Amino acid sequence: MALDPTTMLVLSIALAASAALYLGIEWRSVRASSLLFWSLGFTTITVGCSLALLRNSGILIIGIWFANGLLVLAHWLFLLGVARFTEVRLSRAWYWLAGVWLAMLLLPEGPQWSKTMLLANSLLVSIVTLRASFLLRPHGLSLSVGAAQLRFVLLAHGLFYLCKGLSVFAPGTLVDLAALRGHVIQISLVEGVIAIMLLAVSMTGTERYQREKQIARLAARDPLTALYNRRAFEARAVRLLSDVSAARPGALLLIDIDNFKPVNDLHGHAAGDRLLVMLSEMIRALVPKGDLVARLGGDEFTILLSNASCESIEAISSALREQFQQAATDHFPTPLPVTLSVGANLFGEPPVSLTALIEQVDKALYDSKRSGRDALRIVDQTVGTQQTLQAQ
Ligand code: GH3
Ligand code: MG
Repeated sequence: MALDPTTMLVLSIALAASAALYLGIEWRSVRASSLLFWSLGFTTITVGCSLALLRNSGILIIGIWFANGLLVLAHWLFLLGVARFTEVRLSRAWYWLAGVWLAMLLLPEGPQWSKTMLLANSLLVSIVTLRASFLLRPHGLSLSVGAAQLRFVLLAHGLFYLCKGLSVFAPGTLVDLAALRGHVIQISLVEGVIAIMLLAVSMTGTERYQREKQIARLAARDPLTALYNRRAFEARAVRLLSDVSAARPGALLLIDIDNFKPVNDLHGHAAGDRLLVMLSEMIRALVPKGDLVARLGGDEFTILLSNASCESIEAISSALREQFQQAATDHFPTPLPVTLSVGANLFGEPPVSLTALIEQVDKALYDSKRSGRDALRIVDQTVGTQQTLQAQ
């Protein structure tokens, strides 16, 4: 099959229409506005190419400048989609470009204007596309494969349009937009088909990756406190536990609020929620970076420390107990003191399993509750001793 304008336009229409449809359907299910803008961009390309095809077949519906100018509009919609995807606000100048494009439609038709139109259209497409590529540069965050691919496809496409625009200055360049004649136009039609394919593939991949990341993030977090949940804690604990040695002991702490139910009963469930959030913030602030914190469920929290000692366990535990009791007394007074019981285990080698370790620490927590609550019970496996530190 020859790469004649009709074939290229039919291919472009088919690809752009299916990309528009696919992205539109995805947008309907996930409502990410970037997908809507990209779908509208491909719809615009479909309309523009259809008009050009009709014109090429002798059916003149609307001026060639309009059909050609739709290409600028499509790229502008792609830019808006990228801006939504990267959560960047575009300055007003980018919206003024739409005005420039509208003004260009007033240019008289005629072969002598083809070069001017090609230059203006190509430069507009190039600027808008390069801007979109620039928005996708990594800013400290890792880019998904889809986003990185989209960035480079946009970059290559933008540079192609820059060269296309500048090619009109080369002596002897033939450009006849109305008749789709001239080398530049032929090459551009082929590049268009390739670009539509690559853009569509990377746009779908980009959003999907972002969504999957978001779903994974949500699945790993407790919705109330945003701490890791039990499943995420268990998954992340493995690496930390395998690094434990006599020189760098590990410690697991289990924390349970004492007399928490009366807070709910007297002050309401929302007040209980607030107290849980306060406790999670205190834990976050006290635990060194790199160590693990999770809410196991209800009023039970856990901390996994690396490079720990009895002293560091005691320091964290007493600071936490003090701060928490103060906050609970100040905000949600109850007849029985609302305090913290802590069970902890210090170990100098990786445990047989995390489940076994949690069971041991659970026993220590139970002992601490049984000894009257508001206490820390430490089992020091590195020397084989146990001690309970009761509040004064
Ligand atoms: P203890 O001193 O023996 O620990 O008793 P407690 O009153 O603290 O109650 P317990 O630990 O046995 O049970 C935890 C309670 O926490 C049960 C439930 O009413 C409450 N709870 C569990 N999840 C939530 C939550 O997400 N929000 C609120 N507000 N309360 C919760
Ligand atoms: Mg409790």
